[in-house]
Amino acid sequence: MYYAYGMRSLFRQPRKALNDFSSIEAERRRIQYHLVFLIGAFFLAAFALANYINLRHETAYFLSCCLLTAIGINIFVLKTANHKIAAWLYSMVMLVLVVYLIISGGVEATGPLWTYPIVVIIISLLGHLHGYFLSLFVIALLSVLLGFGDVYGLTPQYSDTFKVRFVATLFALSWLVWSLEFSRAKAAALLNGLNQQILDISRTDQLTGLLNRRGLEENFNSEVNRSQRVNQSFTLALADIDDFKAMNDRYGHLLGDQILKQIATVVQSQIRNIDTLARWGGEEFAILLDKSSLADSTYIVEKIRRAIQDLNQEQSLISERITISIGVAEYRPGQTMLELFDHADNALYLAKRCGKNCVRTMEDVARKEGRPDLSLV
Ligand code: GH3
Ligand code: MG
Ligand code: MG
Repeated sequence: MYYAYGMRSLFRQPRKALNDFSSIEAERRRIQYHLVFLIGAFFLAAFALANYINLRHETAYFLSCCLLTAIGINIFVLKTANHKIAAWLYSMVMLVLVVYLIISGGVEATGPLWTYPIVVIIISLLGHLHGYFLSLFVIALLSVLLGFGDVYGLTPQYSDTFKVRFVATLFALSWLVWSLEFSRAKAAALLNGLNQQILDISRTDQLTGLLNRRGLEENFNSEVNRSQRVNQSFTLALADIDDFKAMNDRYGHLLGDQILKQIATVVQSQIRNIDTLARWGGEEFAILLDKSSLADSTYIVEKIRRAIQDLNQEQSLISERITISIGVAEYRPGQTMLELFDHADNALYLAKRCGKNCVRTMEDVARKEGRPDLSLV
């Protein structure tokens, strides 16, 4: 039953997609801990049984104690998923095991051989820093035991040649594993940094430094999840610069770009930290207004519209007034992003048809559509 649980946990599909460094690392650790446990438990159980059958009861009991401790650690891992503490606990068990095997000599003085895999496991569990230091500590401890063991009558089985070669080969192995683990960890961290940069670039608009369409789509999905969780709505505002083509024609694209940047800065200064501003298209901006009803957001976007309109002579990059039109729509549960954008776009279209430099909502659109006499042709 317990094994079945462990096996299921080991091979079950990861809940999170492995598309970032931390989730890959966490998954690597998770699999590694369970494998260390399963393989270690198998060996401990097999050797405990073999020793018991061969009447080496003391060794059998000691190995059984190690097995029970490993099972306890694995239950702790399954309950808490705290792999860091588990790694140290496993390493301590292995340390005790190694000391026991050196002191007792194991079967026909072959006990020290188990130190080799244990050093490798300790470094791979604890990493190139802690793991390496612990492995050096293990080697130092074993050297002392081997060096002074004779004095206490602990290790009479080993020849001096064996002791020296055992410690030297152990040291060489731990150094080799350290260098491999060091390279692996550094390469993974480097890759993660580059991956993060690529992700940032892919989500960012180069001109304004705001989120681009892709970045906004990601935020939209988390906003939908949040909204469903707390049962609180949010709104989307689409802002479009009025007569921007004419400005471009008159002042040139370079100055047009500066105006886009300036508008991005002004809009950003008017929204709250919890809101999201993105450049949606050429001269269109999208704003996700968190925890807002249509009424709340109309107030905020009206403030934005006025802030752009009121850019004074010194602040403005051109002599004529820059204005924006804004369309606002509220998210309805179950809506797709495109549907919400469609509603906001209709409201924006209405704002343009109403003479520009104004705010219109999806309610205004519905009202117009419901009253043919007011409908705009
Ligand atoms: P309206 O008031 O109806 O929105 O008119 P408009 O002229 O702003 O709208 P239209 O969609 O006809 O023109 C948008 C212009 O935005 C066309 C294009 O030259 C300009 N534009 C789009 N992206 C950029 C950009 O990155 N830099 C600059 N300078 N101009 C851009
Ligand atoms: Mg436009
Ligand atoms: Mg425009």
